[in-house]
Amino acid sequence: MRIVCVGGGPAGLYFSISAKLRDAGHEITVIERDPPEATYGWGVVYWDDLLDILHANDPESARAISAGSVLWQAQEIQVHGGGHDGTAYFGGYGYSMGRAALLEILARRARSLGVDVRHGERLADPADLPEADLILAADGAGSRIRQSRAERFGTKTETGRNPYIWLGTDRQFDSFVFCFEKTGAGWIWFHAYPSIRGISTCIVECSPETWQGLGLDSMEPEEAVPLLEKIFHRALDGHSLISRSRGAPALWQRFTHLRNETWVDGTEPRRPVVLAGDAAHTTHFTLGSGTRLAMIDGIVLAHSLAHHADLRAALRAYDEHRRAELHPVQAGARSSMAWFERLDDYLERDPVSFAYAMAVRTGRQSPWRYQAHLANQIPALRKARLAYDTGRRWYRDRRRGGTPLPLLGRSLPSGAPPKTP
Ligand SMILES: Cc1cc2nc3c(=O)[nH]c(=O)nc-3n(C[C@H](O)[C@H](O)[C@H](O)COP(=O)(O)OP(=O)(O)OC[C@H]3O[C@@H](n4cnc5c(N)ncnc54)[C@H](O)[C@@H]3O)c2cc1C
Repeated sequence: MRIVCVGGGPAGLYFSISAKLRDAGHEITVIERDPPEATYGWGVVYWDDLLDILHANDPESARAISAGSVLWQAQEIQVHGGGHDGTAYFGGYGYSMGRAALLEILARRARSLGVDVRHGERLADPADLPEADLILAADGAGSRIRQSRAERFGTKTETGRNPYIWLGTDRQFDSFVFCFEKTGAGWIWFHAYPSIRGISTCIVECSPETWQGLGLDSMEPEEAVPLLEKIFHRALDGHSLISRSRGAPALWQRFTHLRNETWVDGTEPRRPVVLAGDAAHTTHFTLGSGTRLAMIDGIVLAHSLAHHADLRAALRAYDEHRRAELHPVQAGARSSMAWFERLDDYLERDPVSFAYAMAVRTGRQSPWRYQAHLANQIPALRKARLAYDTGRRWYRDRRRGGTPLPLLGRSLPSGAPPKTP
């Protein structure tokens, strides 16, 4: 089958790998408008469940992703710069990795399987699709292919209230940290996690009222950096924020929550179009799952193509099955976005109660959860949890046949720091 993927992000690249692994006879081209390494954003977080799925699908790229990732072993909520009374803890661990490094691994693996990955090539006119048996629209949340067929896909969008900006910092965080500061204009916060050697991701968000009150709405994003550094001076330990990632300046944005009633447009039978990743669905960044979902879309679509002789049946199966799986995830992401939009209702609570409200913001609660949360605040129990997590991780690594990830601060994966302003 001749397949053209528009967009060389996680969805397009991982689909091409997954499809080639299942049928080496597919002729797959990925067109990506940006040159290699010129991607937006910093690091992305993910959890063990994704590593399990990637190892089962393609051990080779999964090993490279593991090797290029950083392990963080705690999650902290800091209110007013943290300190003894201002910090609460969530248990659990996760991984993070620079987005550019992830895309590099995926592009390399796709090429090694015979995928024609073309960087610097853009689909100029979404109405004029290339000749192919299948077009995969993996061109991200602002997908022009989807927009040009919005009625056929039944696209619904909702723009979040809060402005956010995706920055980096040269403060090396060794855990996942949420930090909340109160200014004269209202609350402003960031969440940060390690990404590559010496650099952490730092996503700053606030209400529109705080944004205007601080004058951020009338500043160039790069002018805002010194002000944000001042506000977060304690939490950043005097380190700098970085607004340029691989040469491109970060911009203030509002999140678009997006869903589609169908992900398949078969109205031109000679060129059916299928959506994957952010082109099909978005999940608020506080869930940290868009990359994971985009890659799993790629697996499910490739699997469906391999298991149905008829292309239309394959696309229907992918559409129905995967959309149903995404439904509760998107509902949770929508709740998470809304929770951060009415943060003031919670921030006057003590940090431990506030952190609990954050932990259950998507609605998932079990009777023991609050007790477990209280237990996490006790240093000795946190230490015991850490030991338990280490054992669990070791077991999962062994089951996958992998080697345990380097611990942060001991042996970080290398990666060129992005250009700074
Ligand atoms: C602030 C923030 C933080 C996030 N943090 C996380 C996280 O921690 N963990 C996580 O899992 N996810 C995270 N995400 C979500 C994640 O970035 C996306 O869900 C993921 O990148 C989606 O992958 P994709 O391949 O569908 O789209 P994209 O990654 O957006 O890729 C689309 C590609 O298509 C290309 N393209 C677009 N138009 C054209 C065209 N006309 N021709 C050719 N190429 C084109 C673009 O250049 C781009 O490379 C975060 C998102 C944001 C905004």
